[in-house]
Amino acid sequence: MDHWNFVSDREFGNIESKMKQSVTILGAGESGTGAALLAKAKSFDVFVSDQGLIKDKYKAELQAHQIEFEEGTHSTDRILNADLIIKSPGIPDKAAIIKKARAKKIEIVDELEFAFRYIKGKVIAITGTNGKTTTTLLTYHLMKTAGLSVALAGNVGESLARKVALEDHDWYVVEVSSFQLDGTKTFRPHIGILLNITPDHLDRYEYQMQNYINSKFRLIQAMQDADRFIYYADDAVINNEVAKIKILPASLKISLKDKSMPVHFDGTNMAFNFKDSSFRIGQQETTLKGPHNLINTMSAVSATYLAGLSIDQIRAGLKNFKNAPHRLESVATINGIEFVNDSKATNVDSVVYGLGSYSGPLVWIAGGIDKGNDYTLIEDQVRKKVRVLICLGKDNSKLHKAFDGIVNEIYETQSARELANLALKVANRGDVVLLSPACASFDLFKNYEDRGNQFREAVLELKKENEFIRQKIY
Ligand code: ADP
Repeated sequence: MDHWNFVSDREFGNIESKMKQSVTILGAGESGTGAALLAKAKSFDVFVSDQGLIKDKYKAELQAHQIEFEEGTHSTDRILNADLIIKSPGIPDKAAIIKKARAKKIEIVDELEFAFRYIKGKVIAITGTNGKTTTTLLTYHLMKTAGLSVALAGNVGESLARKVALEDHDWYVVEVSSFQLDGTKTFRPHIGILLNITPDHLDRYEYQMQNYINSKFRLIQAMQDADRFIYYADDAVINNEVAKIKILPASLKISLKDKSMPVHFDGTNMAFNFKDSSFRIGQQETTLKGPHNLINTMSAVSATYLAGLSIDQIRAGLKNFKNAPHRLESVATINGIEFVNDSKATNVDSVVYGLGSYSGPLVWIAGGIDKGNDYTLIEDQVRKKVRVLICLGKDNSKLHKAFDGIVNEIYETQSARELANLALKVANRGDVVLLSPACASFDLFKNYEDRGNQFREAVLELKKENEFIRQKIY
């Protein structure tokens, strides 16, 4: 705890000397509004500027706290008069207003960095290309059910700044995206988890994978010897980077296959070997399925054990964890056919794990807006397990090209209702119908949540109709 207090006090001193100084916050979404509330609570003179339209709920909050704001424009002169600019993570460094502020040497920080300056408790921060939300929610759940004073923040739910403004906690479990990490300097998690790094969001990183890797590794840039860095050691990109740089926090490696790693999957159980204790946990003791969730669970269990939870507390929490929707969410079983919503699987990497969670046979639903997908990564699994492919996109030519001749039956649909009917018709008892699209959803839906929600509703509707028909027959 000592090293932690030291950082807070030092940072607090810096901020104290800045009191009554002016802050401009760019962007008024969850991050920007949270930062505005915290800045106001810390007596800054606060101005919020959003080039787009601000959602009503955030406007109402700003008004209620007498925080001045503008929308639909950036008043450059006023913004460039600030002593400090807090940037929302969605605003890239190449934005004109950021360039101008840099030219004027105004300090620019991200919401995460700003919030961290006021934190009194410890942070567990979780990043990676895939699995962040699941691991963050699980870590939070384990700590909460063990009775700790803990807040959930970051990319999932409410911003860290808002949480810090509201009340003090001993622990903050924070999901951090690479965009948020880009604007950090002193952000120092007590425990950092890095799940994986695969190409994503490269448009923000000048199409240079190394820039994206550097961004993810900002997670540990301010961490010290007393902190812990948990990472997935089967990931070649992470390993390569770890070999190149100096890492101060003690590392805890997690593996799905290498039994020499302190935390690994031994083929039957997850094995945890810490200095003071060793224990094993079977996946059947958890509510999560699939190899990817072994990685997520091993990470969350390790972090919470290091944070002081007992093995019994961890086991108790694992039993009743409910993941966020759209991630291998079992929606319903109709006539012995299970329907699963994995709409969040918007890239091929996550579908590797989606398919990997079932032994088959599968009716696989995929398609939408392709982000340069390389389907050879899943060709073997598809050949072995997928009996029927239903394409759910406006343009399904790439899926046809990849799987014609590999999957015997391929159909196309463009609506959730039609899809559910078709799936029930073509599936056999014992099959799993898996919506794991490998694509973005914007061609037919608002977003992945909308796609998943429509799928769930259609399946539940179908289940009701089926039960009704059965009642009439018998
Ligand atoms: P994120 O918040 O990083 O997007 P989620 O927990 O929401 O991650 O999971 C998104 C998708 O990524 C899930 O549908 C799942 O298919 C896949 N996934 C989850 N965990 C992992 C992991 N550790 N490695 C690879 N893919 C994963």
